[in-house]
Amino acid sequence: MSADSKSNSMIYRHLGRSGLQVSLFSLGSWVTFHNQVDASGVREMMAMAWDAGVNFFDNAEVYANGESELLMGKALKELAWNRLDFVISSKFFWGLKPVGGKQSRTNSQNTLNRKYLMQAIDGSLQRLKLDYLDLIFCHRADPHTPVEETVWAMHNIIEQGKALYWGTSEWSADEIRAAWEVAERHHLHKPVMEQPQYHLFHRQRVEKEYARLYKDIGLGLTTWSPLASGLLTGKYIEGIPDGSRGAMQNMSFLQEELLDQQKNHAVAQLQEIAHSLDCSVAQLALAWVAHNPRVSTVILGASRPEQLQENLAALDVLKKLNPETVDKIEGLTAKFAD
Ligand code: NDP
Repeated sequence: MSADSKSNSMIYRHLGRSGLQVSLFSLGSWVTFHNQVDASGVREMMAMAWDAGVNFFDNAEVYANGESELLMGKALKELAWNRLDFVISSKFFWGLKPVGGKQSRTNSQNTLNRKYLMQAIDGSLQRLKLDYLDLIFCHRADPHTPVEETVWAMHNIIEQGKALYWGTSEWSADEIRAAWEVAERHHLHKPVMEQPQYHLFHRQRVEKEYARLYKDIGLGLTTWSPLASGLLTGKYIEGIPDGSRGAMQNMSFLQEELLDQQKNHAVAQLQEIAHSLDCSVAQLALAWVAHNPRVSTVILGASRPEQLQENLAALDVLKKLNPETVDKIEGLTAKFAD
């Protein structure tokens, strides 16, 4: 396992066994960019993250149907950082929804076939206005495409110089190992990282299912939804507040989870621990994710700059997490963790 390295207060960790270092906190754009945050807000939040030492920004073709990549690309142009110093990702699987027309998208939606992947990367590069992406992910597994076809396509994209590293998102341990073995057999670029959901109420996959993969293949993790979409901030204890993710019409599928009484009760108890550490419950929950050394980077989400500011400060809480506090936190939440 790689040692943490530090610059200012940010911590950088190796992305699994690769030589690439990513900031322990990174910034993602799902739900927020375009839907909740406009171009100037995106630039402001990316600059704020950058100033705190964040070097990794996560995106996907499907986020706001390509608009999230467009906004990030615009901000990157305006911010004009040195390309050597930042890491950008995108992810492919669902494809773009046709705008207006009724043309068939038979081969470019819900797939990891070669035809789709080889053109999807070009679309992302155009929208992000970049010559190459640092990380590309297969956003979900595709049971209908042979894994050899997908592994070869990801390898070829890297060989073409359009991306540097590839990985998976929400693949099972067996699927990841199968892809890795194809790459090993044919001397291809191997999957380096996985992007799984990981937070106090969702632990099984990262802690148990993938356990062998860290040592066997050097898997790195870029973990998502560290606050369970906001549940772990305590904002849903009294119901769904206006202007929150839970109130968004197209996010209604989250409501049952966000309003879960027992989980909200556990969050209220976590607030007491947070209080004793002089931090917010969101910061406590983020620090808990970051304290797992298997996690290369915790991808933060924020719909407002103030949230990002608060969340980035969770780095200071990490230093206060001793084994007794971790035991207490896990004691309150373990029975809900799937
Ligand atoms: P979180 O679980 O941290 O949820 C973020 C949301 O919670 C914010 O947008 C905001 O929503 C609310 N929130 C955050 N901080 C605070 C705070 N301090 N106080 C109050 N409310 C707060 O992360 P996301 O679900 O956004 O995921 C993070 C990133 O992970 C995504 O942007 C994306 O890049 C990646 N991801 C990847 C997936 C994959 O399949 N690979 C799937 C999902 C995400 P609001 O203000 O609207 O209530």
